[in-house]
Amino acid sequence: MSSAVAMEATRRRQRLSSNGGASETTEEPAGQWGRAWEVDWFSLSAVILLLCTAPFLVFFFVMVCDQYQCSVSQPLVELYSGEATLRSIWEKAPSFTWTAAQIYTVWVSFQVVLYMCVPDITHKFLPGYAGGVQDGARTPAGLINKYEINGLQSWLITHALWYANAQYFHWFSPTIIFDNWIPLLWCTNILGYVVSTFAFVKAYLFPTNAEDCKFTGNVFYNYMMGIEFNPRIGKWFDFKLFFNGRPGIVAWTLINLSYAAKQQELYGYVTNSMILVNVLQAIYVLDFFWNEAWYLKTIDICHDHFGWYLGWGDCVWLPFLYTLQGLYLVYNPVQLSTTHAAAVLLLGLVGYYVFRSTNHQKDLFRRTEGKCSVWGKKPTFIECAYRSGDGSLHHSKLMTSGFWGVARHLNYTGDLMGSLAYCAACGFGHIHPYFYIVYMTILLVHRCVRDEHRCSSKYGKDWKRYTDAVPYRLLPGIF
Ligand code: NDP
Repeated sequence: MSSAVAMEATRRRQRLSSNGGASETTEEPAGQWGRAWEVDWFSLSAVILLLCTAPFLVFFFVMVCDQYQCSVSQPLVELYSGEATLRSIWEKAPSFTWTAAQIYTVWVSFQVVLYMCVPDITHKFLPGYAGGVQDGARTPAGLINKYEINGLQSWLITHALWYANAQYFHWFSPTIIFDNWIPLLWCTNILGYVVSTFAFVKAYLFPTNAEDCKFTGNVFYNYMMGIEFNPRIGKWFDFKLFFNGRPGIVAWTLINLSYAAKQQELYGYVTNSMILVNVLQAIYVLDFFWNEAWYLKTIDICHDHFGWYLGWGDCVWLPFLYTLQGLYLVYNPVQLSTTHAAAVLLLGLVGYYVFRSTNHQKDLFRRTEGKCSVWGKKPTFIECAYRSGDGSLHHSKLMTSGFWGVARHLNYTGDLMGSLAYCAACGFGHIHPYFYIVYMTILLVHRCVRDEHRCSSKYGKDWKRYTDAVPYRLLPGIF
């Protein structure tokens, strides 16, 4: 397969010039534009480091709240002075419980039922919402998969039930998630490892689309970054769509609500910081589900293969580390001054505006093939061509106006502004809640570099023309 792609790399291909002008023919490599076929030492070391440290990092950030009121330095000081040992810390942490296992089983099963058995009806009455069966992007092998988009509906049903329980039925306490938080960590880890291992084995034994599998020859890299591109069970159970969106992202807002309920139970009030975190993150989550069809065209679905990075990451990393601010505020109930709260809200909303508008501009531009209006004008763009693994020639356009003319990834910049707002809502007492912005910066800068490497392989000299036209990545004039 690799050699077939390499042969394609030498094919003569036609390249179109900027803005649909005269075309020219050039001898240029088509490139291997999917995930890497070969692993360099740096990537391999990073993969092994992450596999070994990420689970402990999650445990650390949750444990420090449970045992040290979210002080990150205190356990290190105690370990250094001999006051605590790794064993004593471990022994104090709540262990696996069958109650947590039951809660988590019911939770995941319920999300599977909503995903598989309740076809979307919300798109029939919500104007502007794209739900139901939608096409994904073309895979490197040239396939276009179909997806049942019903995430918004699942989120609405789940939250309606949560509300009904809290207000009327009282089947369980709204603090149930917080009260079982560390036992739930063990359950999510079990699912994360089971799913990643299953996906790994499945890729060898019964892949969904063999043409879209990538074997690098390195077992760690294959396990972490995935082999199969779009593993599925049956026609519709798509691993990426399910695990990326639910159960982690549907849970995100419920976890925050559980934290707010815990503040109410412990202190008799909910702080304005907790309300800010709940509101800003709920906007982000709802945005995700409202735009789930658009999400099919993002890097997670379009380019990443399904391995531990996505499987374990979605089950464990996302629900535990994306919700650190609310957890912190349960242990440290910060009440912000009006000015501070207003500044956080403004930063969060402006960040969201930049994030959403940038994503929307690209989506509109690609859907209409450039026949639209961006900032009141016809968008400018660079025409480019690429080949899929089956050798077919395709054409695409890279927009050079609107937010995409200011920098190449202003959607990430907006995302980072929003992430900083969540952290700043927690005040400046501890660095614990700021881990999120550090992590998001690393994630999105790395993603930006990774994406640009892929685009450069995919579009060759056309990508160079684009980067000449829009020279900065995240911050105009700086990076
Ligand atoms: P993008 O939505 O920016 O997609 C990048 C792709 O867009 C490129 O690979 C290329 O794809 C295409 N593209 C690049 N430049 C242009 C252009 N000028 N005109 C038209 N198309 C272009 O990236 P992501 O999928 O990573 O992110 C989507 C959103 O999700 C972002 O806002 C990000 O912040 C957010 N996100 C959030 C995460 C979180 O954990 N909170 C994690 C990851 C992402 P093609 O091959 O089609 O040309």
